[in-house]
Amino acid sequence: MTDSLMIATTANDMVRIYTVSTTGVVEEARRIHQTWPTATAALGRVLTGTLMMGVMSDTLKRLTVQFAGEGPLGKIIGVSNQPGTVKGYLENPQVDLDLNPLGKFDIAKAVGPGTLTVIKDHGLKNPYNGVVPIQSGEIGEDLAYYFTKSEQIPSAVGLGVLVAPDGQVQAAGGFIVQLLPGCPDAVAMSLEETLRYIPAVTTILNSGETSAQLARRFAIGSLKILAEMPVKYYCDCSGERFRGPLLSLGRQELEKIIQEQGNIEVQCQFCNQKYTYSAAEL
Ligand SMILES: [Zn+2]
Repeated sequence: MTDSLMIATTANDMVRIYTVSTTGVVEEARRIHQTWPTATAALGRVLTGTLMMGVMSDTLKRLTVQFAGEGPLGKIIGVSNQPGTVKGYLENPQVDLDLNPLGKFDIAKAVGPGTLTVIKDHGLKNPYNGVVPIQSGEIGEDLAYYFTKSEQIPSAVGLGVLVAPDGQVQAAGGFIVQLLPGCPDAVAMSLEETLRYIPAVTTILNSGETSAQLARRFAIGSLKILAEMPVKYYCDCSGERFRGPLLSLGRQELEKIIQEQGNIEVQCQFCNQKYTYSAAEL
């Protein structure tokens, strides 16, 4: 089954629902970065959130979600360059902590206190930057806090990654449910009730539910589907893209590296693709 994302509204367009299944996306990230289970879950949650945030505006050119925490994982980055695609990395992929007292991945401890930055690039001169302190480090709660605090949109965010005993990703996905301005209290209360009793996202997706079925769980009255699309891990890097940043090192520095190593090799942090440049090519 391929991963897919769904955008829907309900309660007379007063509630917006984003749901996504990302089992394949997170497994691909695990394979590329060779993450250990706690790191797989943390990066997977960030990628899942980033995918949904990447489809929230038609004019968005690039959305970046960055967790800079003091925990052992270091920085975690998710980037969505076009609707339905995501790429990401974390500073220390080889992190695996004991489970927390609830028997879940201790993502909060692995991320640690710090800041969450959301950068929205609409192709204009200055991208929009939203910065909030990391609340719990559980990723989903932090994104919910960001929406409420920075964008003034009350939101509930659920993100989950289930890792099989062999380390592979067994199920992953999430939802973002947002109350739009003017939403009646009764609708908000009904949603709160749904959220209180909804099983963990991983439990839902692992049982075989699709993102469309997950979205239906939040329906109040009828559900209006706005879009449905496949999602994938995709890196848009190219040899040309790294030339600019390389050249900014300056002639002296580049000559020194070429003298020492014969050429310059750059590796993409998002997909591990290597690019080699000779002196002539630069
Ligand atoms: Zn790449």
